[in-house]
Amino acid sequence: AIYLDYQAATPVDPRVAEAMRETMLTDFANPSSDDHALGWKAHQRVELARAAIADAFGAAWGGLIFTSGATEGNNIAILGGARNAPPERRRVLISAIEHKAVLEAASALAAEGYDIERLPVDTSGCLDLDVLEALEGTTVAVISVMAVNNETGVVQPVRAVAQWAKRHGVFFHCDATQAPLAMEVDLSSWGVDAASLSSHKIYGPKGIGVLYLADDRPWTPRPLTFGGGQEQSIRPGTLPTPLCVGFATASMLVSREGAAERERVASLRDSFVASLRDLDPGLRLTAPSGDRHPGNAHVVFSRADAADLLALLQPVVAASLGSACTSGVIGPSHVLTAMGVSDSDASRCVRFSLGRFSDAAQLAEASHAIAKALNKQRGRALPA
Ligand code: PMP
Repeated sequence: AIYLDYQAATPVDPRVAEAMRETMLTDFANPSSDDHALGWKAHQRVELARAAIADAFGAAWGGLIFTSGATEGNNIAILGGARNAPPERRRVLISAIEHKAVLEAASALAAEGYDIERLPVDTSGCLDLDVLEALEGTTVAVISVMAVNNETGVVQPVRAVAQWAKRHGVFFHCDATQAPLAMEVDLSSWGVDAASLSSHKIYGPKGIGVLYLADDRPWTPRPLTFGGGQEQSIRPGTLPTPLCVGFATASMLVSREGAAERERVASLRDSFVASLRDLDPGLRLTAPSGDRHPGNAHVVFSRADAADLLALLQPVVAASLGSACTSGVIGPSHVLTAMGVSDSDASRCVRFSLGRFSDAAQLAEASHAIAKALNKQRGRALPA
């Protein structure tokens, strides 16, 4: 199969798998066991991993909390961040295009008496900063704005949001899950108070991520779970040494090879979109202007029904209607609705996402398969 769903999950890089295999077989002791040398060794591997991840993404070594992934990081930052805010701060701001793991975490706070407000985006899928600038922030506990959208690939104005948050003393969390493959990530200079990252979006294993906490954050999120004191008691539980090492290896590779890779992937993506346009001259990108994830091709076909098209492409091409986490939901995604895309256009949207192991031959084969599927949809026989 031709895999074009990198934004849902990336394949594990073989170099990552190798490092994990070795760790799993060798460093099996509990990294919290401090009565023997095997425990010390496992602990050392975890801390070296933490240092490598910090180094790759511009974080201080002590500012990274291992989590099970971005969903958990988002929940700790939003629920825990709001619960530890001063009592007069009872509003939570999120952008209208956040991932479910942010939307639902914020919604859960409504039951605790917080007001949840969704910030609008413009038609190019970018947060409307004028609306934010006009908001009074002294009663806001937490603002959460993502770095790069997982459906459209649109890069969000994180530094500007950080400045607003600083001016108003608001805790700023950024869901940076899709950022490492899209841009250089330098968390300290972004000015965020917290950020979530996930290993399986950067060629690492599933089930691990980090929550970054800046040294100068206005307060610390309250923990959601309680246990043996690991991870500064913010996220207790035995650390999964092989996953930590896998995530670290993946992070190192992204920071070393990312710049060249982004360039290569963007150029493959652009030729792929051009080839789709040859098949369907009316095809357009959902977010035609602005900064975008280099591997993202989120397109609106002029006629094809997207769900039917993806079904026709099985098992040859793996792409998606939008986010894997909202698939199964009937109707247009909240991201497209927030951008003002009509329901009819939304039903013709497909997200193709490319990455490290994509190449021109695969994309040519994918275009060919798509051509056949489109022809089938139009009820015409394919010319021989
Ligand atoms: N946020 C964004 C922007 C994502 O793309 C994803 C993955 N679909 C998540 C959060 C959830 O991350 P995880 O799978 O690590 O829980």
